[in-house]
Amino acid sequence: MRLLEERIRRDGIVRGEDVLKVDSFLNHQMDVELFAEMGKEFKRLFEREEITKILTIEASGIGIACVAAQCFGVPVVFAKKSKTKNIEGDVYTSKVESFTHGRVYDIIVSKKFLGPEDKVLLIDDFLANGAALMGLISLVWESGASLAGAGICIEKAFQPGGERIRNMGVRVESLARVKCMSEETGVEFCKEREV
Ligand code: 5GP
Repeated sequence: MRLLEERIRRDGIVRGEDVLKVDSFLNHQMDVELFAEMGKEFKRLFEREEITKILTIEASGIGIACVAAQCFGVPVVFAKKSKTKNIEGDVYTSKVESFTHGRVYDIIVSKKFLGPEDKVLLIDDFLANGAALMGLISLVWESGASLAGAGICIEKAFQPGGERIRNMGVRVESLARVKCMSEETGVEFCKEREV
């Protein structure tokens, strides 16, 4: 998506070899006009699917998930990061190893909000090693819902998550795919269909 790529080029900051900071427009301060365009693009990509729920993960996926959900006219459920497993009775749980913090945590979703009748679209801000997305996929499997796929704002295609998850047969659509990046030269994007 050209608009997002241009914004990353303009305002994204590369830290070290594998961290892209986009906190001026995506995951701290949020540019909701850009979000509206991204939401429309997710809708266009998945419009043939009869999505009933959007599922994301606390915290930075919630903003874009809400805007996307408005385009689909469905609710958003966000998986909560939890220390206590059964706070509200029956929950689906899985484990995620955090890319940015390097630790493992449990995520939970109440059984009230996801079930076999649902068709789920996953939404997240970043795809790196795929741990966050794998955690969400496990929750969907556990719930018996069907999975339409995943919509990602920024995929770092030089990290293994995208390939791993596509190889499992899950449809992953990323609005910007970073081929490589460095503090000196900035960000280079994959051309269409290029891995
Ligand atoms: P994964 O689980 O795919 O390794 O990482 C995905 C999660 O880590 C995302 O939800 C995102 O919050 C965070 N993340 C991964 N890479 C980056 C990055 O380069 N920049 C930022 N800001 N967050 C990242």
